[in-house]
Amino acid sequence: MTTQNNPLLQEFDHAPFSKIENKHFKPAIIKAIEMAREEINAIASNADEATFPNTIETLEFSGEKLDRVTSIFFNLNSAETNEEIQQIAQEVSPLLSEFRNDIILNKALFEKVKSVYNKKDQLDLNTEQKTLLDRKYKAFSRNGANLPIEKQNELRDIDKKLSKLSLDFGQNVLAETNKFELHLTDENDLKGLPESFKEEAAQVAASKEKEGWIFTLEYPSYLPFMKYAENRELRKKMALAFGSKGFHGDELDNQENVLQIAKLRYQRAQLLGYKTHAHFVLEERMAETPEKVNSFLDEILEKAKPAAEREFKELENFAKDLDGIDQLQKWDAAFYSEKLKQKLFNLDDEKLKPYFKLENVIDGVFTVAQKLYGLSFKEVFDVDKYHEDVKIYQVLDENNKEMALFYADFHPRPGKRDGAWMTGYKSQYKKDGEEERPHISIVCNFTKPSKKQPSLLTFNELTTLFHEFGHALHGMLGDTEYPSLSGANVYWDFVELPSQLLENWCYEKEALQLFAKHYETGEVIPMELIQKIKESANFQEGMATVRQLSFGMLDLSWHGVDPSAITDVKANEDKAFARTKLFPNVEENCMSTAFSHIFQGGYSAGYYSYKWAEVLDADTFEYFQQNGIFSREVANKFKTNILSQGGTDHPMTLYKKFRGKEPKPDALLKRAGLIEK
Ligand SMILES: [Zn+2]
Repeated sequence: MTTQNNPLLQEFDHAPFSKIENKHFKPAIIKAIEMAREEINAIASNADEATFPNTIETLEFSGEKLDRVTSIFFNLNSAETNEEIQQIAQEVSPLLSEFRNDIILNKALFEKVKSVYNKKDQLDLNTEQKTLLDRKYKAFSRNGANLPIEKQNELRDIDKKLSKLSLDFGQNVLAETNKFELHLTDENDLKGLPESFKEEAAQVAASKEKEGWIFTLEYPSYLPFMKYAENRELRKKMALAFGSKGFHGDELDNQENVLQIAKLRYQRAQLLGYKTHAHFVLEERMAETPEKVNSFLDEILEKAKPAAEREFKELENFAKDLDGIDQLQKWDAAFYSEKLKQKLFNLDDEKLKPYFKLENVIDGVFTVAQKLYGLSFKEVFDVDKYHEDVKIYQVLDENNKEMALFYADFHPRPGKRDGAWMTGYKSQYKKDGEEERPHISIVCNFTKPSKKQPSLLTFNELTTLFHEFGHALHGMLGDTEYPSLSGANVYWDFVELPSQLLENWCYEKEALQLFAKHYETGEVIPMELIQKIKESANFQEGMATVRQLSFGMLDLSWHGVDPSAITDVKANEDKAFARTKLFPNVEENCMSTAFSHIFQGGYSAGYYSYKWAEVLDADTFEYFQQNGIFSREVANKFKTNILSQGGTDHPMTLYKKFRGKEPKPDALLKRAGLIEK
């Protein structure tokens, strides 16, 4: 195939979905990699002295075609995939990582970048340029570009070992999950389980040609079982199996993997000149240092612990009154919490859903964006889409300037992965005096309309839509020079601020009145329901907070120290959990050996970010509340200092410009009902 008839290799503004066929992807990606390589080689071999424009800026704008083609391809692989696309992904992924590695290992290129970096103080750069230079330089230095060759080899060697160990870790967890099943044949043992859930378990058994019901350690099976099963012994059996993954001293045991991973990460950090792995990770986070994260976790723990203990006592008393339980155990927590929650709130989704018709909610979130930021949304029908369900909007500001193109894809279908996410098809940037506006997309999996009923959202789906739309606003309002610093391209303990912030409007009467109307009667959602939603959102918030903190502390017990002296995984864990403990210790269980977030995924030294982001969003929302949740003044400050700025400056600097001070956890603790208002 020639490049001329490949639509991906032509010039285009919005993605030309109707012209793209699967056969176009691989040749387009190969060609785009080639183009990017040429651009980069031209920078590296430039005979002129390295300057900010000829090196850093040129590097930033290189590979534009590759970015556009791969964003289309990988977005489709998530939202509208098939076997052919998956196969192509398998083929192009190694090519892409090879390309990226070659850049990082390109010595001539690094020398150019470094020579600009070394004279940065004489260059009279603005803040955004300084940040870009710093990011480009660190992309090399954090991968060992400054080390002598033998140390670089050592680093590659550690990286190889680490990727194998993480893989082994994950495979063991998966094998342990698959190995266990709870096979029941006596219906009495199923007491308390909802009918539909029982049916699913019967289907699992039937698919294995067994009688009765099978429950597994996968979340959709495990969580409802722990929540509803009345048989305490069976709950215990499930909890022990779930909590001892990778901790049986057999060939699937992960204890040695945990110790090795922690030690190698520490060695890697030391090689690169950092005190610990956490120091290395946090250099590129808003939180900056493990010391700051530790004091952050300590401060919240001190304030949340009394509430957690109170809630634990309440739950203990409830279980005692109800079933004569003397010692509340971990496997009782979900079960009695659910019962207590029902007793206190009796709030079920079916009562709320009629008020959240999808079309009304979309109007609602658009109205909120209009009131806050003056944006308007006009559906357009002449732009290519990848599926007929997708809706596309032109986003305009108050002066009718086009700010973005917004793609929204709401319903599940085969070929779309689970969950909800925000992504983009084109970056925002400014180049040669021209401004390019972004193409932003959100993808969700909300219940489809039927012949009888429109799409009615659960409350959880409502907050999910606001959440993703919050990310989308970050992208749409981006106003930066460089694409890699625009919109949601920020440190990842800062990236959830715009999204979590917008969820707050889902709990406010003033906002709900705008759109939460019964789909048949038009009646506005009753205030008492809103009140109940708020109260139930805070149910057992103390216990939940302490649990989150305990995971953050466990994470740092592995990554914020020199781990060479640690030999006993369980003992280290018990020590890390000592201050957050509410339930009796379970000897047979160990969390670290199945803590995939930090030992397999990318969350090492980052688990604290969940709470960190909550502190930011609560602190920001409090500012709105003090001035009115639709205050244009506060919204403007937020837009000017945070949303439009992307990653152009350190998040703490941006935040202080917006808020006038550093974030404090008090607003979060108040919102969660953990301290007095
Ligand atoms: Zn998010």
